[in-house]
Amino acid sequence: MKVYEVINLGAKELQGICENPKLEAELLLAYCLGMDRINLIIKREDEVEEGELAKFLGLLNMRKSHIPYQYIVKKHYFMGLEFFVDENVLIPRPETEILVEEVLKRLKKGNTLIDIGTGSGAIAVSVVKYFPDCFVYAVDISRKALEVAKYNAKKHNVLDKIVFIESDVFSQVPKNIKFDFIVSNPPYIKRGELETLQEEVKKEPIIALDGGEDGLFFYKKIIEGAPFYLNPEGAICFEMGYDQKEEVTDLLTKGGFKNIEVIKDLSGIDRVVIARYKL
Ligand code: GLN
Repeated sequence: MKVYEVINLGAKELQGICENPKLEAELLLAYCLGMDRINLIIKREDEVEEGELAKFLGLLNMRKSHIPYQYIVKKHYFMGLEFFVDENVLIPRPETEILVEEVLKRLKKGNTLIDIGTGSGAIAVSVVKYFPDCFVYAVDISRKALEVAKYNAKKHNVLDKIVFIESDVFSQVPKNIKFDFIVSNPPYIKRGELETLQEEVKKEPIIALDGGEDGLFFYKKIIEGAPFYLNPEGAICFEMGYDQKEEVTDLLTKGGFKNIEVIKDLSGIDRVVIARYKL
């Protein structure tokens, strides 16, 4: 079979599975052949070898079973950086780039920051990458996620700039460390809504999505622990779900936080909240 025939076959198979079957078929084939998509289009009349075709069909089946494209090719881009991702970590979302950008705007030389529930390390790694003059701690309850985060830190040459701690929120973080920023994109989906998620999202780690009955479990836990870990005038920066602005800002106010700022994502949804502790 020729390249374009394989693409057409793949596109047909992915019909109804994803939004852009042709594009995903091209990307999967390009991945199998170890080339980029543009080269694939130039070589559309070339023959695809049997082994490569078999590999492609295997990946196509994975995709047909709703495994996200990013888990198949084991990478995803965030803040212009390539991250390794697998089923142990949430695939970093573009909305989360807004969280990172807002943190970067406010970071000062020598500041210390903690990323709670670091997952792939996307937030922690990109913060140090774009603002090397700070100290970053990254925690996650999942040892496997931490391995992925460390791998990404190594990939971007910042392994020695991040302290990784296996911890359920603050539980294993020494009390004598004080932070200027507590940053988190915690699991925030209401338990009752997990079933309604897209099939692809259901392949992501449930512990990265499940925010408890009201979706607020981790916001409460982090806000409760924050006073013991924040420097005077330190800040909390959260990503939140599309309908959580009122609840999260309420929790922050009740927790003694002031100067609450809410930032919208590109779809106009209130997505990021930043608050200072006792100004
Ligand atoms: N934004 C993710 C989603 O769309 C959820 C991430 C989270 O729970 N922190 O499913």
